[in-house]
Amino acid sequence: MEVGNKYHVQWKNGQQHVGEIIEIRRLRGVNSSSSHTVVQNNSYLTNEADKPEDYEYYVHYQTFDRRLDEWVAYKRIDISNEMSGERHNRDSMKSRKNKRKLLIDCTAESKIDDKEVKLLELEREHDEITKVKNINSIVLGRYEIETWYYSPYPDEFVGEELMHVCEYCLKYMKKPKTLYHHHLKCHKYCPPGVEIYRDNDLTMYEVDGHENKIYCQNLCLLSKLFLDHKTLYYDVNPFLFYVLCEVDKKGYNHIVGYFSKEKHSIENYNLACILTFPPYQRKGYGKFLMSVSYELSKRENTTGSPEKPLSDLGKISYRSYWTFVLMQIFNNKESISNISIQEISRMTGFKTEDILSTLHYLNMIKHWKGQHVICVSQKAIDNHLQQVTKVRLCKPECLTWKPFSERPPKRQI
Ligand code: ZN
Repeated sequence: MEVGNKYHVQWKNGQQHVGEIIEIRRLRGVNSSSSHTVVQNNSYLTNEADKPEDYEYYVHYQTFDRRLDEWVAYKRIDISNEMSGERHNRDSMKSRKNKRKLLIDCTAESKIDDKEVKLLELEREHDEITKVKNINSIVLGRYEIETWYYSPYPDEFVGEELMHVCEYCLKYMKKPKTLYHHHLKCHKYCPPGVEIYRDNDLTMYEVDGHENKIYCQNLCLLSKLFLDHKTLYYDVNPFLFYVLCEVDKKGYNHIVGYFSKEKHSIENYNLACILTFPPYQRKGYGKFLMSVSYELSKRENTTGSPEKPLSDLGKISYRSYWTFVLMQIFNNKESISNISIQEISRMTGFKTEDILSTLHYLNMIKHWKGQHVICVSQKAIDNHLQQVTKVRLCKPECLTWKPFSERPPKRQI
């Protein structure tokens, strides 16, 4: 068995799926001196007495998202049926060669550019480092959560079965005992920053990346475990973080999710990163976070849009949110044909291009004498609204947020 080969692998539910071997490592407890060593590439049976069962295999399932990649035992892999791994290797080499060739063609044409080559090289290196999850599960408040992706936590925290995170200050620790002692000292029970939203058991804080650097870096590290992108995690100064919490009966604030926003966005982006932590997903919090980001844009007297490029999942979430809000407007409007795209944009804070692309996607817009005409039936509106069951949107009256231009200047200490 080699890295790059593909086999039928038994998945959690017993079904078989085609999986590619991404990495191989010796099982813990086998030849304990090197139990943590990740075995490089092909010659992983280094010791003659080694058996394939002494190793575990990091598998990417072809039909699934990378977040479902996992370490599997040898017995779950059907080695009798290799799925042309060699061909795959050759193909990927060919594609790498093509990429390089393309790059060389480009550089020849524009007479640049070492920079591009270096960038590609860095990207390859980044892919290499981040292809295997480094932390399996975390404890966050009441929940133990299986992670989805690599996150650049310091090496000394990697390789433990569980990492423990304080859900208030987001400090990370190896041992439950350390967390216990930390809780005796950590009396925050809420994120730092200023509370900007309160509706019964739901609260949101604005945290400035410059003023609360460590907290925001910890938030980025934590969220990277569930986000598959290549952002830098250390330069948090230019961002504001809007952290959503559920408040329990004792008044403790349990972090649910967040979105970040550039303090000054040239492109008028109103959201950079968005995440609902897994235990709180499918409860309508994603739409809530988006609705807050648009409410902020409206208070700034502008329109906004999420940072591009959107991930596949981001695209689906935004499409679903835009559709829901548009259908709500159409549902409350007596005559849809009288409403203009500009008016919808003013009502929602959505950019006109996002409204148009959503309506095109839904096949609800036509061109008529150089004008856009919205064509939608009540049945279609009802259908879309019925599909959304759990939804919480920002209530403007609960939001006590002012744009920076309207805030008094901060006192210098
Ligand atoms: Zn803490």
